[in-house]
Order: sequence, then structure tokens, then C-alpha cells
Amino acid sequence: MATVSSASPDSAASAGPVRYRCAACGNLTRFDVTTTQRTRAYHHYSLSGDLSVEEPEVLTEVVEEVSCRWCGSGKAVAVLPLAVPASASAEPAPAGEPGPAADSGPPPERSGA
Ligand SMILES: [Zn+2]
Repeated sequence: MATVSSASPDSAASAGPVRYRCAACGNLTRFDVTTTQRTRAYHHYSLSGDLSVEEPEVLTEVVEEVSCRWCGSGKAVAVLPLAVPASASAEPAPAGEPGPAADSGPPPERSGA
């Protein structure tokens, strides 16, 4: 078997390319966002029962409520399109995937039940 490195880079676009703004107090940065996510992931167990969750994927994400952290109200919160020039988006890219380390060969199968 060849090691298949699946070409699925972190599709981290599921956070929603929007910003919020509270028209009541001018808050642009702090909100309580209630979302419902439906996700799927590959649960990979070793024979000893250790679990590693791989390939997490957000199937659907629904924003249910956004409330301003300052006023505590969501009545004045407006959604802004993310057309803001990326001046402050200096987030470092996640460096590599935390893959399993040096997994040499398949585990020995136990014969019999
Ligand atoms: Zn507010």
C-alpha cells in the first residue's frame, strides 16, 4: 500500500466570511455567536483503543444568534460583508497537520476471536 496523502487541505472557510457590527454601541470585535454545526470526521482507532480524529469536515453550519458582548443584545447587530481590506489579517498559517508519527506498517492481527 502506498501512503496516500489525501489532497484535502484544511478547508477553514467554514467560519463564515462575515463580520458583525453592533449599531447600538459600535462594537466590532466581541460577540456571542451561537452556531449549530454538523460535522464529520474520520475516527481512527488503534487496536489498543487509542482514538485519533482525522479529516474533520464541517458539513453545515448555521448561525442561530449573534448578540453583542457589550450591550448583551442582538437587536442592533448587523452583518457586514467581509470586504474589508486585509490589513490586519496577519494570521500565521497552521504549520502542517498533526499526522501520526512514524506509523511503521500495519499492526499485527490477532488470529482467533
Ligand atoms: Zn452593542
